[in-house]
Amino acid sequence: MAEETIFSKIIRREIPADIIYQDDLVTAFRDISPQAPTHILIIPNVLIPTVNDITEDHESALGRLFTVAAKIAKDEGIAEDGYRLIMNCNRHSGQEVFHIHMHLVGGRPLGPLLAK
Ligand code: 5GP
Repeated sequence: MAEETIFSKIIRREIPADIIYQDDLVTAFRDISPQAPTHILIIPNVLIPTVNDITEDHESALGRLFTVAAKIAKDEGIAEDGYRLIMNCNRHSGQEVFHIHMHLVGGRPLGPLLAK
C-alpha cells in the first residue's frame, strides 16, 4: 500500500485548503505557493504516487483531470490567453508530493517550457 500524503487529507477536508472543485473522481485546489497568478492543483481522489504507478483502472479519473482543467481555465478567465498543464514524476522532475497532481498554471506569459 502506498503511503498517504497531505493531499489525501485535503481530499477528505481534514486540513484546510482552497478547494475550488470536487467530484467523485478528482479534487482541485489552489497551490499553497503559487508560481503564477493562477496556480491550481488537480488530483485524482484515489492515491497514485507517481505517473509510473498509473494503470488502465485509473483512466476515467485521469481523463477527468483534463475536463476539469479545461473548465477551471475557463472559469479563471485564462482559457483564451492560454496556460500550462504540468505533471512531475520522481526525482529529476522535482516531484515533492507523491500523490500525482496536475499543475494548472497561467495568468501571465509563462516563458520557455524548461529551464536551461
Ligand atoms: P510537485 O513539485 O510535487 O509537482 O508539486 C507539489 C506542489 O504542491 C507544490 O507546488 C507545492 O506548493 C504544493 N503543496 C505542497 N503542500 C501543499 C499543501 O499543503 N497545500 C497546498 N494547497 N499545496 C501544497
